[in-house]
Amino acid sequence: MNNNEINPEQWEFETQAVRTGSIRSGEREHSEAIYLTSSFVYDSAQQAQAVFSGDEPGNVYSRYTNPSVRMFEERMAALEGGELACASSSGMAAILGMCMGLLKAGDHVVCSRSVFGTTVTVFNKYLAKFGVESTFVDFTDYQQWQEACRPETKLFFLETPSNPLGEVIDIERMAGIAHDNGAWLMVDNCFCTPALQQPLKLGADIVVHSTTKFIDGQGRCMGGVAVGSKELIGEMHLWQRAAGACMSPFNAWNFFKALETLSLRMEAHCRSAQELAEWLEQMPMIEKVYYSGLPSHSGHELAKKQQKAFGGVLAFTVKGGREQAWKVIDQLQIISRTANLGDTRSTVTHPATTTHSRLSDEDKQRAGITENLVRISVGLESVNDLKKDLESGLSLLA
Ligand SMILES: *Cc1c(COP(=O)(O)O)cnc(C)c1O
Repeated sequence: MNNNEINPEQWEFETQAVRTGSIRSGEREHSEAIYLTSSFVYDSAQQAQAVFSGDEPGNVYSRYTNPSVRMFEERMAALEGGELACASSSGMAAILGMCMGLLKAGDHVVCSRSVFGTTVTVFNKYLAKFGVESTFVDFTDYQQWQEACRPETKLFFLETPSNPLGEVIDIERMAGIAHDNGAWLMVDNCFCTPALQQPLKLGADIVVHSTTKFIDGQGRCMGGVAVGSKELIGEMHLWQRAAGACMSPFNAWNFFKALETLSLRMEAHCRSAQELAEWLEQMPMIEKVYYSGLPSHSGHELAKKQQKAFGGVLAFTVKGGREQAWKVIDQLQIISRTANLGDTRSTVTHPATTTHSRLSDEDKQRAGITENLVRISVGLESVNDLKKDLESGLSLLA
């Protein structure tokens, strides 16, 4: 044996992103194949029995396992530093699947108010129907998290950095509070991806993603994934086998290949977002820029400590109200008016009338979702062209 053999578990992030999880079919293909098949065949009745019973490794049915999905799950688990991953049909399916696997009637959840809107619906409306109660707290108020805990509290759920203002919470400290109260900490890591932040390494128990966003990074496929210990993720696998919210093998293949460029893409998103944020901060028509890469942002120091970089999403308020914000948005010729984020193409939204329109006026005010707020997910176009695009709208306000 070669003494210099490199242990794949010691590969650095970029190597794992390109190499981990690869399966070859026997045809010697270099780029991995897509396993578009619903079921799998056996040489004999006896072999079928052995695979069905789990005595022999192998696949049974793509609702349970599929090689393309397994490749993606193994690579994701490695990148987040978890033992096991479970892929699902969307980000929401991953959040619901984890909850269905871990919670039962009588359990209690503490959830940040600043999470993806549909996540609030899942906790507030659907889990509540089955006897799981949730308390919503102000994201960065550690005391509120502590005070919301009850003997039945089983789960803390948060998203950091928050959307759209980029507020940040100390994951390590939150894991401490959760564990002191006998709860698991689940972190939605959609905005950073493991290229910028690895919550499991900071003490979180579960990481969830909408892979629809930066993981795909090209606005093509819907998907989700949860990563954590074998024990916790195993519960989601069992739920998913029964409930069927599995990831399509075609989508899994796209995500698997997209992970190969994740580090480079995130670096470029972050570099352009930083440059745009600094540029916007100097513009006279701008009231305030929200980007944790700016020293003026309340989460700057913590983001610097906890994240490798500051992410690809920024927000700003223009001087004026909805009319002025819409004027800037409507003038854009490159940046797409769409709700999605984490795409090669830059996207713009007016949170108050789209992503956050379901909030009451009071909740909007509390969350800082004002009528003059605009959010940009910075893509991979030339940052000079993005500046020109924004300037054409901002100049109308001068
Ligand atoms: C989009 C998103 C989700 C939901 O994911 P889907 O893939 O759309 O189901 C969850 N959390 C965050 C932070 C998101 O941006």
